[in-house]
Amino acid sequence: MRVSPRRNPLPSPLSLMPDKTIFKKIIDREVPAKIVYEDDLCMAFEDIHPRAPTHLIVIPKKEIVSVDDVEPEDEALIGHLFTAMRKIAAQLSLSGGYRVITNCGRDAGQEVMHIHFHLLAGRKFTWPPG
Ligand code: AMP
Repeated sequence: MRVSPRRNPLPSPLSLMPDKTIFKKIIDREVPAKIVYEDDLCMAFEDIHPRAPTHLIVIPKKEIVSVDDVEPEDEALIGHLFTAMRKIAAQLSLSGGYRVITNCGRDAGQEVMHIHFHLLAGRKFTWPPG
């Protein structure tokens, strides 16, 4: 008896896994980055397309998509990111001030679906932002 190949084989569980974000790949050391700060919960690295003399991306290691996905149990973690940013700013002597931004969703221009804070410094920033 001839066995014909299955026309529509079921997808393997691996093919159903959503792709890792670029930031998760940086956390997992699959993609290189210029890391300036790291601890158990978070890391900060240089933005690949800097918009200011200092432009860092600060992320939790936990995968959270955006501000819209922050749960009550993440409150301490999000607070931790801010104390990390304060330490980084002190380390880099950003005494002239700095701006912290997070983009949430399409209209805000969020490109990477892993919550992150842009830490920008080294020039004057205008308000309102574009
Ligand atoms: P957002 O538009 O808020 O999602 O910002 C995503 C940011 O990630 C942009 O400023 C990008 O330049 C930055 N980015 C994307 N890929 C990398 C990468 N491999 N290393 C560092 N920064 C990156």
